Amino acid sequence: MSLTTREVQALDSAHYMHPFTDHQSLAGKGARVITRGKGVYVWDSEDNEIFDGMSGLWCVNVGYGRQELVEAAARQMEVLPYYNSFFQTTNLPAAQLAERIVGLAGARFSHVFFSSSGSESNDTNVRLVRHYWATLGQPERNVIISRKNAYHGSTVCGAALGGMSGMHAQGGPMVPGIEHIQQPYHFELAPDMDRDAFGIEAAGWLEQKILAVGPEKVAAFIGEPVQGAGGVIIPPKTYWPEIQRICDKYGILLICDEVICGFGRLGAWFSAEMMGAKPDLITFAKGVTSGYIPLGGVVVGKRVADVVIGQGGEFNHGYTYSGHPVACAVALANLDIIEREGLVDRVREETGPYLAEQFAALSEHPLVAGAETFGMVGGLVLMKDKASRTPFDSSLEVGMICRDHCFANGLVMRAVGDRMIIAPPLVCTKSDIDELIKRVRICLDATLKDIQS
Ligand code: PLP
Repeated sequence: MSLTTREVQALDSAHYMHPFTDHQSLAGKGARVITRGKGVYVWDSEDNEIFDGMSGLWCVNVGYGRQELVEAAARQMEVLPYYNSFFQTTNLPAAQLAERIVGLAGARFSHVFFSSSGSESNDTNVRLVRHYWATLGQPERNVIISRKNAYHGSTVCGAALGGMSGMHAQGGPMVPGIEHIQQPYHFELAPDMDRDAFGIEAAGWLEQKILAVGPEKVAAFIGEPVQGAGGVIIPPKTYWPEIQRICDKYGILLICDEVICGFGRLGAWFSAEMMGAKPDLITFAKGVTSGYIPLGGVVVGKRVADVVIGQGGEFNHGYTYSGHPVACAVALANLDIIEREGLVDRVREETGPYLAEQFAALSEHPLVAGAETFGMVGGLVLMKDKASRTPFDSSLEVGMICRDHCFANGLVMRAVGDRMIIAPPLVCTKSDIDELIKRVRICLDATLKDIQS
């Protein structure tokens, strides 16, 4: 690096407005400057090695330093660095990638709409489902039901669809026509209830909301198969089949936001069907390129495509970078790696179960009241007294204390309140998982010592 760490930090604090960052808390200490990555590790400008337990932001599925992806981008940049798909034009990587993603999503799907992010893709979904119902002559059917604590992006529509109270409190009025129901968080909402019975009850909140709004006004329900940024909330296995039954009963569209869950993270290319749902639309981003270049989109089911493409004329919607040839070429190379290395099966059959076992053993730690994983995502609940399920006073910000100990000890874990979450790269081997767990234990011990002193 040609500048010192302090010099980069000075530029950063003077000019770079970071996403989701309290700049006051950064002042004085300066942002950590990340300079390079290889495999499951990144390094900072002081050459500290950090195990990336979050795959960047849930996206670097194939790990860092994949030369194949660099070459795919460079090759495509030389041939055609950019062209749009607005002028009845297309490009080879976009057409090939659309076909490939439809193939991975299954026979109920026929098309892909491309964007550059998960947020844009969910905005696309909102416009698409409303356009679908309007094309069918039911424009009043425009309400979308989502869930509390969901994260669907940071655009005006993404923030409104999401259920993060902190986001709703900022940025002015929310987009109308979006309603929220409670998330299926068994541990917090009904720990003493049978988990499967709770799944049915939690799905029933959707039916109650549909009836309150009026079924003739509801366009769609949107949900992440496993809620990610909300704290890795894994629903009971009864939840999604019951959600599907309710959607079918009222004929409403189901949107599964697989921005985190897709491309192998839960042990399937797309996870909704594995969990008992049959979405009409799937949001994707992140893992499609392993984060090497921005790309997102919506996999469009035949039910929707037959109407909006088959009967609807023009859908007045699109982005300059929809079907960007370089991003699509990188995605194709990324999918080649995932396929060739068998990462999806490996997560489902080998590393996912191993992580689950190792993670569960963390429950013995005095701070850990709950530990759950699904594929390559997981969450730990930290509590003051786990026997009586007494949480910490939120003003103590124990999650943040733990996150800082992670950083100091060469590990990235994210804090969501007092839930510590992980989403390591899918290329993790069992010995990488051992190393991850070893570092988690060190950080939990340091946190315990800190709060006891
Ligand atoms: N949907 C989900 C489930 C996400 O986790 C995210 C980002 O974390 C988004 C949408 C937004 O994606 P992006 O940040 O690419 O706009």
